[in-house]
Amino acid sequence: MNITPKRHRNIKNIARSYFNHYKTRNPFEIFQKLGISCSLIKLDGDLKGFTHINEKNIPCVYINNKYDYYSQKIIAAHELGHILLHRKDDLNMFEENGISSQKEYEANIFLMEFMPHVQPHDKNYIQLSPTRLKNYIRSKIC
Ligand SMILES: [Zn+2]
Repeated sequence: MNITPKRHRNIKNIARSYFNHYKTRNPFEIFQKLGISCSLIKLDGDLKGFTHINEKNIPCVYINNKYDYYSQKIIAAHELGHILLHRKDDLNMFEENGISSQKEYEANIFLMEFMPHVQPHDKNYIQLSPTRLKNYIRSKIC
């Protein structure tokens, strides 16, 4: 396990509090309510999405429009995780290749907690290694 139980609880609580407050598990609706711009655009290759934080610390989310709506929500929930968990530590851009694998893992944990229906049915996702969790999520995106 690459995450302390305390940090895991913390991420769970953040995901739960956004759901309780906004009563939705659709990350696009959360973006809308928070006034965060989110665009569906054509992205080259395998890039699923990314968040750009501008110099005023305002995030803009971009999601690859080649994926279906369900997949786009999964990608958006991961980006929402970065915004809620990592925005304060990254004042500059944070495109995927500049992000630590720890932050990637945390954003994936947020996604699992915010959209629990995406979790594996046969095992607890927290028992998967960060790489296996990433591969599991990838397998859900098409
Ligand atoms: Zn990420």
